[in-house]
Amino acid sequence: MNPDIVCLRDDFRLDDQPAIAASAERPALYVYVHDQSPRNGRPLGGAAKWRLYQSLKAMERRLAENGARLDVLAGPADATILALARAAGASRVLWTRRYEAAGMALDAAVKAALRERGVEGESFNGRLIREPWEFDRGDGHLPRSFSAFFRRHQSERDMPAPKPAPARLSSAPWPEGAPERAPIEALRLTTTKPDWSGELALGERPGEEGGLAALRCFVEEGLSGYASDRDLASGEATSHLSPHLRFGEVSAIRAAYVVDGVAARQRLRRDAEKFLSELGWRDFAALLLYAHPDLAAKPLRPEFERFPFREDEAAFRAWSRGETGYPIVDAGMRQLWRTGFMHNRVRLVAASFLVKHLLIDWRRGEEWFWDTLCDADPASNPMNWQWVAGSGADAAPFFRIFNPMLQAEKFDPDGAYVRRWVPELARLEAPHVHRPWNATEAALSRAGVVLGKTYPRPMVDHAAARARALAAFEEIKAEPTA
Ligand code: FAD
Repeated sequence: MNPDIVCLRDDFRLDDQPAIAASAERPALYVYVHDQSPRNGRPLGGAAKWRLYQSLKAMERRLAENGARLDVLAGPADATILALARAAGASRVLWTRRYEAAGMALDAAVKAALRERGVEGESFNGRLIREPWEFDRGDGHLPRSFSAFFRRHQSERDMPAPKPAPARLSSAPWPEGAPERAPIEALRLTTTKPDWSGELALGERPGEEGGLAALRCFVEEGLSGYASDRDLASGEATSHLSPHLRFGEVSAIRAAYVVDGVAARQRLRRDAEKFLSELGWRDFAALLLYAHPDLAAKPLRPEFERFPFREDEAAFRAWSRGETGYPIVDAGMRQLWRTGFMHNRVRLVAASFLVKHLLIDWRRGEEWFWDTLCDADPASNPMNWQWVAGSGADAAPFFRIFNPMLQAEKFDPDGAYVRRWVPELARLEAPHVHRPWNATEAALSRAGVVLGKTYPRPMVDHAAARARALAAFEEIKAEPTA
């Protein structure tokens, strides 16, 4: 029997994995083709590469436990898949769809080339709850605001149901004359610039089993109270599913389905609705990327092209290393650097600080997050940065400037988050931990803090930075002169 080829890519799971389910009845080749050229989508940043390595190792084990094998190849995705299909005499090649222009174009070209050779190329939605084109009502217009999008997301039809993992799989023998396989280690995914030994993905268990366990833990411990507590920086109320969703170790449909089911039984409607709306943001980001392929490069509001951003390498470095002198920003940036993760509320505050307090281009921040987040996602990352910068479709208005101290006092009320990630402030008492510059000399000395020495003084004054940002915003509001 001619084998199927299942091309795995950001969908490293067996549960609710439609491409694998479709091939489960027959021997197949389960392949991952490593191609980091921009033709195959945005090349991964350092932390995401490290996380991909973990995902591949876990998928290799998962397939082996189920009677199958993960075959890893490296090379141009299109030529490699075509060569493999030819050598295997495959009748079908199956994959999960993506929403980036470059990747979509490559997949369309592969499908056409396969068809010419009499091979069927079949793609599936294995990534989103609803795909972008489901929102086109035939007039070519996609919703531009999240609220319009989410109304339709919820109301169109019943929530799709997840498909269980196949009972057993079988791999076809590796065909003669096929491209040569490589061990996962040969992809050199873990040799990243910084020394990320130790704490990257701290507390996380990469892979499908870890992802499903995180989902179970969330519905048992985090869901009740999610709506009210999800903004607390300690992060105990949120699911920590983002890296699992990013690499497809858990499907968004499965996450929505489990949360919905538990909420109905336990009367946690408000919490579930909030969670489902967060998954909705993830789908919305994919829709925006589909509609605006240059989402990471171009502001959705064209007037922001004229924004007078500053070039300031020293300031950018201080921000990226968590040395701004604003404890909540520094805590977030250090959590990111060390673990590849940052709590959503703190992402908002830290990103806003870069764009509004330092007037540095959001695209630089987006690239930094792209390189350091384990969950770095080609749609969610630029969408959120544009939202923070005020240049997104329905972004927060630019003139709303987060006050880092008030945000910290509200979302890290006892200072535990700051103390954890900025240990030099660990002994400062609660009212001062978010504003060390207001502490008395005696309080600082009791805590062993010497401002400007053991911990930086604020690199900009909040009120002055706010006034400067608003003045910069006035400049782009004025009509450009011809
Ligand atoms: P939960 O609160 O448990 O949410 C459940 C899931 O919903 C998340 O896992 C995520 O998949 C999705 N989600 C939640 N909030 C958002 C959001 N605002 N936008 C899109 N999806 C969301 N998320 C990424 O997955 N990848 C990114 O590259 C990314 N970059 C970001 C950059 C900035 C500047 C900001 C402000 C946010 C970014 N986010 C990104 C969104 C959000 O911060 C993370 O998804 C969230 O912190 C993950 O934690 P969690 O899984 O515990 O979230």
